[in-house]
Amino acid sequence: MNKPNIDMVTQGLQKINYKALLDKIKPIIFLYENGEPRRKNQLKKYELEHNFHPPLITEISSPMIISKTLSEEEKAQILKKQFGENVLYFVETILDKNPDANLSLLYENLPTLDIFLKNYNFSNMVLRASNCGDYNTKTNIARVTQNKNLFSQSFYHELFHVSSTLYDKQEDISYSGFCRFYPDGITGIGINEGYTEIMTERYFANETELFQPTFYIYEKFFASKLEEIVGKEKMEQLYFETDLEGLIEELKQCASEDDIKSFLINTDVLTHVIYNDSVSFKLLDKIISRVEQTLDFLVESYIKMQYKKLSEGLITNQELEDNILSYEDGLNNTYNIRGEEYLYNNFAEINYRLSEEVHKAPRR
Ligand SMILES: [Zn+2]
Repeated sequence: MNKPNIDMVTQGLQKINYKALLDKIKPIIFLYENGEPRRKNQLKKYELEHNFHPPLITEISSPMIISKTLSEEEKAQILKKQFGENVLYFVETILDKNPDANLSLLYENLPTLDIFLKNYNFSNMVLRASNCGDYNTKTNIARVTQNKNLFSQSFYHELFHVSSTLYDKQEDISYSGFCRFYPDGITGIGINEGYTEIMTERYFANETELFQPTFYIYEKFFASKLEEIVGKEKMEQLYFETDLEGLIEELKQCASEDDIKSFLINTDVLTHVIYNDSVSFKLLDKIISRVEQTLDFLVESYIKMQYKKLSEGLITNQELEDNILSYEDGLNNTYNIRGEEYLYNNFAEINYRLSEEVHKAPRR
């Protein structure tokens, strides 16, 4: 075998089609040092997000929030397109299981939606990710894995993104479920991915034995504990109506706006670093502390919401106790974070502190 010399290498490098190569790699890597974005401009983005008040969705002229079913003509139009049958099946399954589901955004996006198959093996090899689909909120193009075993799961996951996305061209902002893509930053992606996968599982897991429950495992867990605070019906509605602001309003009943924003930032940062082996292990402490803050937020908010319901006469004392116990049961004591065991044991302390606060408060 010829030993390659430097000329051969540089000639070879020139032959690589970098643009095509870049197309294959999803630019999802954010590098964090000490738990914070490494590059200054990325840091600014996060600071900006933290202080940034997203415009209310109702301020955007939008044709949405009217539930309807598809007309026969619309169905025929969908069937003409590639994967049309799968799309119709998606619509029918959701409406069958939840007749109140607001699919207005899906109907809005469907006429211009394109769906392609894509081979993710290469980007997964490079990034050690388990990508199997993506959806471009601006171009309304969904790409779904060619891998037959994962096709359905990937297809439905991306269609949930399509069903919850509104792109404001003028402002260049994508509203997508609980996520916002601003020209200079992203917020809510962790919770949004987790909830999107929860919805995929809830509506379609029984469709295939090949369903993998391992995607977005932390995000799903956080989003499901969040849903217990807000309520399933409300949370699904907010998701389909891409109403992050509504979600924040709901949470303000039991948490401060700053804490809600920190929670969103923590779950966003975690989604970038928690699976990413290229992020140094020195960061493990920082990752774990963000996991802990996230769990603390969820526990505190849940318990406060229960006391609020009690004070409004919506639940009894017994129900309050039972609910808090069952919330605790649903939390794991140990979490495996990149191979390290992490013990969460703040529940009792938070519960005690909050019950003390309630009992100290003057009775009216
Ligand atoms: Zn997704």
